[in-house]
Amino acid sequence: MKWFLLSLVIGALCLANPYPKESAVPKDSALDYFRQYPEPKAAQSRIGIEVLRVDVSWSEGENYEVTKTVREMSGTPGVLARSKQNDPHGSYQGRLIEPFTQSVVAQDSLGTGMLFRKLTRGFSFRFPLPSEAVEFQLIAENPSSGEMETVLSQRIDPGIIAPADQTAPTGLEVRALQAATTQPEIRVNFYAEGYLASRKERFWQDAQKAVNALRENNFPGFAQMSFYAVFYPSKTALGNAKDLGLPVAERDSFLGLYFPYWENFGRWYHVIYPTRFSKYRDGIGLAPYDYPVILVDDSNYWGVGNFRELTAVPTGSWSFTYLLLHEIGHFFGLNEEYESGGATELSFAPEIEEPWSQNITFLRDPNELKWKQFVAPTTPIPTPTSQWSSGKYGAYKGGYAQSAPKNTSHKPGIGCVMASQGDFCAICRHAIEERVRFDSGKITSDSTENSLDLAHRR
Ligand SMILES: [Zn+2]
Repeated sequence: MKWFLLSLVIGALCLANPYPKESAVPKDSALDYFRQYPEPKAAQSRIGIEVLRVDVSWSEGENYEVTKTVREMSGTPGVLARSKQNDPHGSYQGRLIEPFTQSVVAQDSLGTGMLFRKLTRGFSFRFPLPSEAVEFQLIAENPSSGEMETVLSQRIDPGIIAPADQTAPTGLEVRALQAATTQPEIRVNFYAEGYLASRKERFWQDAQKAVNALRENNFPGFAQMSFYAVFYPSKTALGNAKDLGLPVAERDSFLGLYFPYWENFGRWYHVIYPTRFSKYRDGIGLAPYDYPVILVDDSNYWGVGNFRELTAVPTGSWSFTYLLLHEIGHFFGLNEEYESGGATELSFAPEIEEPWSQNITFLRDPNELKWKQFVAPTTPIPTPTSQWSSGKYGAYKGGYAQSAPKNTSHKPGIGCVMASQGDFCAICRHAIEERVRFDSGKITSDSTENSLDLAHRR
């Protein structure tokens, strides 16, 4: 009985964002691991398009406040193009409103679920630089009801914000890894986090390893992506997960990421988040980016991905490839397709009707199944597990880890990399392709109108 109770306790503690059981996920081969990689080339320029960045801090009592407005050279053509579209995803949305007509002139969206605000304690949005004063609005997921509500409104005058500082800090180095082969291009940057100055050469190898892993796994949208590596030495390596007390200590590394002991949701030691979200955004904004992927000089088993905020993985882990694919999946909004391991930090508000993650559904209306184009009309909904033996997509009970409301979630199939192994299932692959299309400014079936009438967002 004692042992039974003990194993229950251990079970409850083994909470992870990647699959909870490290032994159940695929390992990279030693050959792959020690393969030689080509020497990356120095990038011609690290200067992108000037954008307006708005940082909003969150504090207990649901207080939101604009804490920083800067002009930053981190923009890409994609940042400009997608700002004009209505994003169907994200739990926190920033908007710029034209004050006289009250029309939305730009938007940006990030974060999955109610815990995101507590983990990052702030948000950073990027917009095309407006020519006149605008009203900034923040729309956030209500942590109880899940409704999207306007929680902050503030005037921003771009005329009084100083132009971007274009000087690079000493020690910063940007290298080009691989060019996109189709247009429009999306810029993926691998950033060095927790790499000491002496580990620079190792970082270039790890960055190339990451490109190879995405190519060899036929990552959706790969041809459109150009890959860069951004090195800046960290004074401190990541180290082990410890409770360092409050107030949250700023991590003395390039991007200041650490295990979020400040938000004890049970699985905090298997993910990392910014200790200062503005420091994190300042760091990744040193080069133009669409997708930031953080490579951490660490060999333990953990990994984190959150919608349009970050992907971070340990490059020394034997499960590097699985972790990279799974966590990038989260960056694109995908949720867990496993059922164990306690609640995920990607949980939505407990009363939410239907989560917006593309690969899980609460199935309130089976006729409105998000991925119905992948499901044969003869497949029963909800779908009994026995149907999976013939590989039929449907709506199988499961996914969403063990988040509330329990036993409500359904997933498209069994055996996706958003669970413990394999490839992306057809639904997740399609979802990532649609996000890449959206992020490069092309209209997708998820956002049918190129209009910023965001009031009708579902
Ligand atoms: Zn999937």
